[in-house]
Amino acid sequence: MIVIVGGGIAGLSLALTCHQIGAPFRVLEAARAIEPLGVGINLQPNAVRELFDLGLEQDLAAIGVETREYGLFSKRGRAIWTEPRGRFAGYRWPQYSVHRGALQMLLYRTLLERAGSASVETGWRATGFENVPGGAVVHLQAPDGATRSVLGSVVIGADGIHSALRAQMEPDEGPPIWAGAILWRGTTRARPFRTGASMVLIGHATQRLVAYPISPPDSDGLATINWIAELTSDPGAGWRREDWNRTADLADFLPRFADWRFGWIDAPELIQGAAKVYEYPMVDRDPIARWTHGAVSLIGDAAHATYPVGSNGASQAIVDARKLGSHLLAHRIGPAALAAYEQEMRPLTSKIILTNRGSGPDAVLQQVEDRCGGAFEAIEDVIPKEDLARHAVRYKRVAGFGIEELNARPPIIAAGARL
Ligand SMILES: Cc1cc2nc3c(=O)[nH]c(=O)nc-3n(C[C@H](O)[C@H](O)[C@H](O)COP(=O)(O)OP(=O)(O)OC[C@H]3O[C@@H](n4cnc5c(N)ncnc54)[C@H](O)[C@@H]3O)c2cc1C
Repeated sequence: MIVIVGGGIAGLSLALTCHQIGAPFRVLEAARAIEPLGVGINLQPNAVRELFDLGLEQDLAAIGVETREYGLFSKRGRAIWTEPRGRFAGYRWPQYSVHRGALQMLLYRTLLERAGSASVETGWRATGFENVPGGAVVHLQAPDGATRSVLGSVVIGADGIHSALRAQMEPDEGPPIWAGAILWRGTTRARPFRTGASMVLIGHATQRLVAYPISPPDSDGLATINWIAELTSDPGAGWRREDWNRTADLADFLPRFADWRFGWIDAPELIQGAAKVYEYPMVDRDPIARWTHGAVSLIGDAAHATYPVGSNGASQAIVDARKLGSHLLAHRIGPAALAAYEQEMRPLTSKIILTNRGSGPDAVLQQVEDRCGGAFEAIEDVIPKEDLARHAVRYKRVAGFGIEELNARPPIIAAGARL
């Protein structure tokens, strides 16, 4: 049996993959119930392809918005770079903007329908693991203090950025790394901008607004717009431990965005229109030298938590799950599959972590800020279009969704493949 620790996007994607290929599995989740938490995330075409291969094409269309355009804008609202996305860019699969909670519930519901309710046990927090002959044991604790251990042929830590299994593998690592940026996130009913399904990044390295719709417009023309306001201050000043669901105070950041009204988008109105705003320090973790210890390995944020700047945290979690599935098919359930999975994925995801720290997809925003403070008539006067195009292509390749490469690549798991 494959024991999956954590029922987030990575763990549930792996569980659905195991069910698809005929591998026995069980998910053990710390939360008492799986609930639709979070706000918007983006699923890049490489991850959408995998969800389609899991038979979720119709369901995704029902919960997401097919992203048409991605754009970088200066703090004065001037367009620096815009490009089509997903099928509009020539991919064979769309890019989707979705509510994280809606995606998690879709995966959860589908898993229960396909594999039965016994496939997921909630209310069990992993506290550690042990390699034993024939596999590994994960130690668990319930909210009432009860403990138990579960044996698997392999144990997979899909337990997110605060992974207990990773903490045992890397005892000296400590908390995630904070470089001084705080994100405030919310959703607001508002008129969608530009194409009606555009994802926009406005500002520069120390002050940014990201916005995109995660629902189609209603009969009044209003959609749910997901937005993230970001400010960077002195990391030495310290911040409270990150918690995806901490409620925020608008006075901490709204004044800085007060004049970000550009006709096509109105940042203060968007921010003030949210029923609830959450704050979150932007953190990541250093790449580590090893994810696999015998019959135990890591996927998703447990393996490679990165800044959420390239919208690939959830996408990468899904791809990890599928890659691990393909190695289980090739090597059967055991340490050899885990070692092969790590060998393929660790170098790739380490590169994404480091790229997102330095020259992520929006690095050009700061270049424009440095050169002209965001004010220009024609962007060619500030930065050549070819440089912008080259940067955009390079990031997609690093993150595994280069258009030609993805379209030409065979499926990660062939249709009908079974253990
Ligand atoms: C509540 C929540 C809200 C989020 N909101 C956003 C958002 O708004 N925007 C965004 O970009 N990203 C968000 N994320 C992060 C995003 O989901 C991940 O970056 C990405 O999807 C990778 O998924 P993952 O499954 O590796 O990690 P996660 O989605 O973090 O899932 C990890 C799962 O493991 C469980 N878990 C943790 N510790 C243990 C343990 N010791 N034993 C058993 N189970 C454990 C957690 O409860 C969770 O269900 C959120 C994550 C969470 C948990």
